[in-house]
Amino acid sequence: MRTDVARIDPPASMDTWLVEHFGSVDAVREQTVVRVLDRVTLDGTVFAPLRALRPVDGGGDGTAEDRLAAEIAATEGDPFCRPLEGTPAAAWGRVRGASAVSGANAAAYDAEHGVLVFDGHDPLAFDVASVADLLTLGRQWADAARAVDPSTDAYLFLWNCLWRAGGSIIHGHAQTLLGRGGHHARIERWRRDAAGYAAATGRSYLDDLVATHHDLGLIADLGGATLLASLTPVKERELWLVANDGVDDADLAFREAVGRMAVAYRDALGVRAFNLVLWCPPLDESWPELRPLVRIVDRGAPFVRPSDIGAMELFATPVVGSDPFEVAVRMRAALAGIRTVA
Ligand SMILES: [Zn+2]
Repeated sequence: MRTDVARIDPPASMDTWLVEHFGSVDAVREQTVVRVLDRVTLDGTVFAPLRALRPVDGGGDGTAEDRLAAEIAATEGDPFCRPLEGTPAAAWGRVRGASAVSGANAAAYDAEHGVLVFDGHDPLAFDVASVADLLTLGRQWADAARAVDPSTDAYLFLWNCLWRAGGSIIHGHAQTLLGRGGHHARIERWRRDAAGYAAATGRSYLDDLVATHHDLGLIADLGGATLLASLTPVKERELWLVANDGVDDADLAFREAVGRMAVAYRDALGVRAFNLVLWCPPLDESWPELRPLVRIVDRGAPFVRPSDIGAMELFATPVVGSDPFEVAVRMRAALAGIRTVA
């Protein structure tokens, strides 16, 4: 970790504007910038708190709930509202869950590429049970696809909620992928780093990652899994939910933990657009480095015009305004009030 102080000299003519947006002129005269680097994976983040406060173009109130509700309602009746007619089936068919049904992605980007379409239109109308069911449906989809093509084993579960998170269709849906010939690139990269750490130290990188967050008060215990407010978030408010030893992503304890995390993220942190991914070893393989884990990241208020990802994020080091210590406190408080289904 490294701390820098950026000093700037604003002209008096900017005083009113600076006070309005940043609280005071002194707040911008000397700014603390914190860089955190994971020396194992070289994942790093620049924490620049004022970035969260800076004025942005367009959208007015980026969190306007009524505008979002209207936008969601305006697309009701889309093809996903009638998934059996509006989405293709996989060559082998569909699987049906308690609150979603599978289809095939019309524009595939893997050997098998499914879409799990929520029964309800509103992408934010999920609860602990429906999220837990979604993960079960994902595994059922993978099992069905592999029964036809056993050479596929690199399973990925993705959930892009709303347009700012890359969702091209508003109707609630998650995606499932099955690839072959190695896992997806980021996961392979992470595994290589974790394996290097284990070879050099004899220790589990994932366990040490959890322990580091634990020591700093950045975790919450969710029963079958441990929640971390990441010290090196790839974007705002990144959380990791790591299955405890011996817990599988198909286990109810893990699936409900994912549901509780998603509900708290939406309700307590107010996140509307998010990306979620499930990382797990290739199916039928056991990797000593990786237990199932879910990552989730906030993609910002729906109607803000600039993208939250620029050249820094793509080519250098992500810049983040939110503080993981605050995220951890708020998540812990919210999770205490969210019950499991069972
Ligand atoms: Zn719909």
